[in-house]
Amino acid sequence: MTRPVRAHIDLSALTFNLSQARRAAPDSRVMAVVKADGYGHGMLAVATALQDADAFAVASLDEGLQLRNAGIEKPVLLLEGVFSATELTAVMQHHFELVVHQALQLEWLETLDVSARLSVWLKVDTGMNRLGFAPGDALAAWDRLEAMPQVETLQWMSHFACADEPEHTANDHQESTFRQLCMQREAPRSLANSAALLTRPSSHVEWVRPGIMLYGASPMAAGHACPVELRPVMTLGSELIAVHHCRKGDAVGYGQAWVCPEDMPVGVVAAGYGDGYPRHAPSGTPVLVNGEVAELIGRVSMDMLCVDLRTQPQARAGDPVVLWGEGLPVESVAGAAGTISYALLCGVTPRVPRRTD
Ligand code: PLP
Repeated sequence: MTRPVRAHIDLSALTFNLSQARRAAPDSRVMAVVKADGYGHGMLAVATALQDADAFAVASLDEGLQLRNAGIEKPVLLLEGVFSATELTAVMQHHFELVVHQALQLEWLETLDVSARLSVWLKVDTGMNRLGFAPGDALAAWDRLEAMPQVETLQWMSHFACADEPEHTANDHQESTFRQLCMQREAPRSLANSAALLTRPSSHVEWVRPGIMLYGASPMAAGHACPVELRPVMTLGSELIAVHHCRKGDAVGYGQAWVCPEDMPVGVVAAGYGDGYPRHAPSGTPVLVNGEVAELIGRVSMDMLCVDLRTQPQARAGDPVVLWGEGLPVESVAGAAGTISYALLCGVTPRVPRRTD
């Protein structure tokens, strides 16, 4: 009998969510973002299932190579570009598309043999202040790339900082800065992440780049409803491995941080921060026991967490528990724990077996 914690990955939910992205942005091509091991779901399984995507986006060459080595031939964009000139040989060999976001990378490209045929996305910093050419420098960078025989296709991209808050004024500003710039050099463009895909049709342009929505988590900030149905792809499940009865005044777990207000049953679940459950999730964070919402109590341990079973006095060792996923949206756990669904999904540790179907 193995420790009863596992991540169930439902690939039919993934393809359903991709169809929702297509429905919301019917005139755009879809670049599915599968970086960080497919947001923790297993990149190869995810990319293989997303047959209907037009392209994939990953963070780096290493991730791109994993896709190519698995026989995936669709276009793959490296979102952070290359980190040194030496990576460019593999980029060419495996036909990766490349984000170019700073002058240093232009210099590297110019050192390449003129027989190279690269597909480049020029990234403009329209307000994120992370990667990208400043709008005032972007046209010069564009012209420099266009003049390089090594560059075969050139396209525009930028990234929203606040798309999860649709009313945020930064969104209009970023989009209009991007549009004005792109008008000066006509080429395909890409701007929208999941939140913009679902809430800002004006930002869809030629390519959309959904990530989190494909995995079935709402891309919207707390307090903003997700406008379409999404199905959770990952369900992190476990079981009660013990149930015991505490007396009023007994304290539960490390630091004796939670004290029983009355005599009550307490359940112990075989999942903890060693599995990727957030250590800082406070008492009151929802946990599903036998399909019913119960509350986390006390501090999360490495291998276990405790739940208040007063609402389920009949619960027994062996009963099923869902930490997030089917029946318990990951964003509700993330919200309670003061984090985001992306971090929870990416943070499930390698010791948790994945069952993918
Ligand atoms: N585009 C870029 C450049 C990104 O970095 C990301 C994710 O971090 C995405 C698109 C996808 O964003 P989301 O997962 O919010 O859809």
